[in-house]
Amino acid sequence: MPEQVPILVCGGSLAGLSAALSLKRFGLDALVLEKACFPRPKLCGEFLGPDSFAVLERLGVLEPIEQHAAGPIAESVFYPMTGAAFTVKMQWLNPKRPYGLGISRDVLDTLLMAHARQQGIAIIEQAKVLPEVRRENGHFIVEVVIQGQRRQFETPILIDASGRYSGLHLSGKAKSPSKPQPKRLGIRFKVHTPTLAKDQALRMFLFPQGYGGIQPLPGGVSNVCMLTGQAYSPMLQRPFTDLIRETIGQNPQAWERLADASLVEPMQTTVASNMNLPGASLDEFLRIGDAMMTLDPVTGSGMSVALQTGELAAAVIAAGLRQGHRYDQIRAAYHREYHCLLGNRIRVLKLFRPVLFSPALQRVCLPFVKPVLPIVARIFR
Ligand SMILES: Cc1cc2nc3c(=O)[nH]c(=O)nc-3n(C[C@H](O)[C@H](O)[C@H](O)COP(=O)(O)OP(=O)(O)OC[C@H]3O[C@@H](n4cnc5c(N)ncnc54)[C@H](O)[C@@H]3O)c2cc1C
Repeated sequence: MPEQVPILVCGGSLAGLSAALSLKRFGLDALVLEKACFPRPKLCGEFLGPDSFAVLERLGVLEPIEQHAAGPIAESVFYPMTGAAFTVKMQWLNPKRPYGLGISRDVLDTLLMAHARQQGIAIIEQAKVLPEVRRENGHFIVEVVIQGQRRQFETPILIDASGRYSGLHLSGKAKSPSKPQPKRLGIRFKVHTPTLAKDQALRMFLFPQGYGGIQPLPGGVSNVCMLTGQAYSPMLQRPFTDLIRETIGQNPQAWERLADASLVEPMQTTVASNMNLPGASLDEFLRIGDAMMTLDPVTGSGMSVALQTGELAAAVIAAGLRQGHRYDQIRAAYHREYHCLLGNRIRVLKLFRPVLFSPALQRVCLPFVKPVLPIVARIFR
């Protein structure tokens, strides 16, 4: 017999924990199933954007996060391959909290998980939800492998927070095919460099077929994270300095800052395939964070969107349950609220995404974009 759970959250990272903590504030209990054991490695630029803070404050975990973060980071400076740099001020994105922070993902995720446990949220780690989900009499039945043992859970409310590789689908219906996306290679280093030791800006560099960022972290460490074409894969075997020079270092402004960098943590890589980019149709479950949609990492807003959508889902579920709504009505209401919150951001991203990977488009578009950046930022927000 399946174990009965009122609300089940698949994925215990930012989106999943934000949802579970927010549900708790509405007096609703959720079980969180997380396949990894925290802290787990997670490739990320580690820039926590201005829209995160109000949510983290409501979740009751902002203070410890601020204590473990570098910042405040008041601006993000973009460096094209040629021509002048341009600056995006955090004030344009969020006038009330005009700054971002730099924090290691393992620290952030672990702080959030410890806080959730303190609040009494049931979390099972090393619990992998199997992708095929059954639906019977309006309830979902999921199979889970927990430390080698199979268990079944039954729930009327299933939240998918399992990130951009979510494969959850209803049995008999494979996940709706989204448009094929080009594969990208994600690379992350943590470095020490005297040039950047006291830097207080997020710096983004465009280079042929990719872009990367340098983000200050506590202790004079910088996170160097990039997303680039698969053509760069063979370079992963090269010595660290060569790899930097031949990727992000092709941008002279990046090389100036990284030429004297020394590695403080082993390099991490990921193949960023099947990203749920804008346009994907994902309508079987209530999905939050990257499981719903991956915002391009260049925006530095994936983490804040994960936190925001977790909180949004909780509010919609609480309101729906109070009114006696069924799951499908709740999910439809969530989709409407989601598009109110993020519709403009998604439209701006659709427009600008091709520019990120094309120097030719950058040459044509950037001179026109620069003067209207505050307006674009306002639409984005
Ligand atoms: C190269 C790169 C750089 C980035 N840099 C930034 C940045 O600087 N700032 C920013 O804000 N965002 C950044 N992002 C985006 C950010 O990392 C994501 O948007 C964010 O992690 C999404 O959170 P999430 O909780 O939705 O998903 P995730 O963080 O991906 O969490 C999903 C969780 O679900 C678990 N899970 C998966 N499948 C299952 C299963 N079957 N059963 C149980 N558990 C499961 C996973 O173990 C994981 O813990 C970057 C992304 C990339 C690729």
